[in-house]
Amino acid sequence: MEEQELSHILIILAGLLRAVGIACMIALIFLGAPLRYIFLIALLTVGGIFTAVLSFLLGILSFTHAVIYEVVVIFINLLVFFYAYREKKNLPPPKPSETTRCVVCSAYIKPNQEYFVLKCGENYLYFDTEEHLKRFFLENIEEYKKFRNLQIKEPECYYIHSRKLWVDLKQEEVSVSKPS
Ligand SMILES: [Zn+2]
Repeated sequence: MEEQELSHILIILAGLLRAVGIACMIALIFLGAPLRYIFLIALLTVGGIFTAVLSFLLGILSFTHAVIYEVVVIFINLLVFFYAYREKKNLPPPKPSETTRCVVCSAYIKPNQEYFVLKCGENYLYFDTEEHLKRFFLENIEEYKKFRNLQIKEPECYYIHSRKLWVDLKQEEVSVSKPS
């Protein structure tokens, strides 16, 4: 193939890199991931495209090397994305404030004692005991939403403060059964 055709393939790959980079950035912005990861992906994407195409055109990299280089940059981009995604998912919920109370029994939640946090979309609901948390999402959730006029999404997972652990509600051991 002529050099011009080869550089076309490189430019197509660069387009793929750009698409992957932009998709990762948009997804991370929506997830509310830390800004440093979004900047890192932007830098990798723009830097990767420029250096790969330029170094091929200037004869620094052969075609094969330039292709490998671009594929590696795409791969690193995806790695950064998954790392940021995992970090965001495992981030502990906000600490309870002085006025935070258990949704079920209205006991004050103390940050230095055991508590449980139910995540419903962007909302965090606090509980003093695991029993209250489970009673809430198994029985009271609809009543509570009406009572407080809350627009909360379906609960996704809950956090055990003492174990610094998120428990997925889809896991069988939690066995969520919705009231009919
Ligand atoms: Zn309670």
